[in-house]
Amino acid sequence: MISQDTIDTLRKADVGARHLFIDGTQVDAWSGASLPVISPIDGRPFASIADGGAADVDRAVTSARKAFAKGSWSRAAPAFRKKVLTKFAELVEKHALELAVLGVRDNGTEINMAYKAEPLSAAGTIRYYAEAIDKVYGEIAPTPENVLGLIHKEPLGVVGVIVPWNFPLMIGAWKIAPALAAGNAIVVKPPEIASLTLLRLAELAAEAGLPEGVFNVVTGRGSVAGEALGLHMDVDAIAFTGSGPVGRRLLEYSARSNLKRVFLELGGKSPNIVFADVPDLKQAAVVSANGIFRNSGQVCVAGSRLLVQASIYDRFMDELLKATTKLKVGDPLYLISDIGAVSSAEQLAKNLGFVSKAMEEGARLVTGGERILTETGGSYMAPTIFENVTENMQLAREEVFGPVLGVMRFDTEEEAVRLANATVYGLASAVWTSNLSTAHRMVRAINAGVVHVNTYGGADITVPLGGVKQSGFGRDKSLHAIEKYTDLKTAWINLG
Ligand code: NAD
Repeated sequence: MISQDTIDTLRKADVGARHLFIDGTQVDAWSGASLPVISPIDGRPFASIADGGAADVDRAVTSARKAFAKGSWSRAAPAFRKKVLTKFAELVEKHALELAVLGVRDNGTEINMAYKAEPLSAAGTIRYYAEAIDKVYGEIAPTPENVLGLIHKEPLGVVGVIVPWNFPLMIGAWKIAPALAAGNAIVVKPPEIASLTLLRLAELAAEAGLPEGVFNVVTGRGSVAGEALGLHMDVDAIAFTGSGPVGRRLLEYSARSNLKRVFLELGGKSPNIVFADVPDLKQAAVVSANGIFRNSGQVCVAGSRLLVQASIYDRFMDELLKATTKLKVGDPLYLISDIGAVSSAEQLAKNLGFVSKAMEEGARLVTGGERILTETGGSYMAPTIFENVTENMQLAREEVFGPVLGVMRFDTEEEAVRLANATVYGLASAVWTSNLSTAHRMVRAINAGVVHVNTYGGADITVPLGGVKQSGFGRDKSLHAIEKYTDLKTAWINLG
């Protein structure tokens, strides 16, 4: 149990000026420049981060390469690596509340969500991959008797990790943990508006005994430090979560540099489809509201397109509205807040731009649509629902990444499938029905990496997450994720 008193104490902690983390120590950016850290809770600066540039990225990559070549991690006994990562997970758990509060001050996610979704989830992920270290191994191929064909799994070398601001620890851990478990050295580029928890994570990794240079962090702007990492000739792979436009750039950087592999987890416009035979209409409405509005809609898998079968439309919309108006938007560090702040003033302005466009295009505003709690100086937005959304409207096509839901009505299963797939994205989705056959047909028919049935959201580390179409490729989570961070090497041995 976390207490409000402890949170209130932690929120006052002095963070000060944070540095880069390279070769096991804190260093300033080569240029000496820094960026202010503004809290979306009240719009005030409360810390600063180093504004890393190409020289710093080069320093971090050099340190990672040196550590990798030295072998004190990459070639260390699996039992040692497992012990260090297990200790790392324990430390993250021990400091969970401190990390959660720090992260919330940085990005505004409501604490009751952030505590579980950020440090506790990251600790679970690190532990999961620590346990996999001595359980995932190579193969012996079924070759003719005079030959031995061995398939080795080897780490790639230096892996760059670039993540977004909505859940930097959770998403970071999905990449950092399997990359480290496989024996790689890493350079992490946190999101410029939420870097603090990943910096702290690197310190905890060092405290757990991870050798110097294996885990480096270069903060700074995406267009500078991120680009330098993407273009670096000595980075073997980039594991990225973020927006489509930046994903495209990373593919270009790879083509222009050393053909490094790039794994992209991008955005979504996920359909949440409610059939008339939904098992529990009221509960589905509550879960659907949470599935779009928690963390102010800044969730890559958010169910941002709601498709409701015509015969239950009015009843469902009544329940959805009730559930939505019950959600309390407020200071994200209050345990009673269901929804915290939008991550930044820029993101809030972008969200409001989507609202204006939806009105202009003829969608009907059911609730919300405005900035609230202005007196706090922070960035807060009322959960927003539009109905009469048609598939050509911007709200049906583009990802808002904010608390804005577009609702459409459908008559037949065929129409639901067509609408669900009428998007360039394919990340998540959900189907609500009592009919097992409908559920299975829909799982097959929807083009998405994840199909929820009779729920929205919810998953654990054992199952993969990732998209199809322009939601990217490559999967985070599960044992499959380790494959991204290893190479196969064949040994063909003539036995005579
Ligand atoms: P973003 O693409 O703007 O930034 C993501 C990261 O890329 C940040 O660390 C940023 O500094 C860096 N970056 C920016 N420009 C760069 C460049 N030119 N070169 C290299 N790196 C650069 O995304 P965001 O605004 O931080 O996050 C929101 C997006 O992330 C949304 O589209 C959302 O759907 C997506 N997202 C996807 C998932 C998923 O699992 N598929 C999860 C969370 C968020």
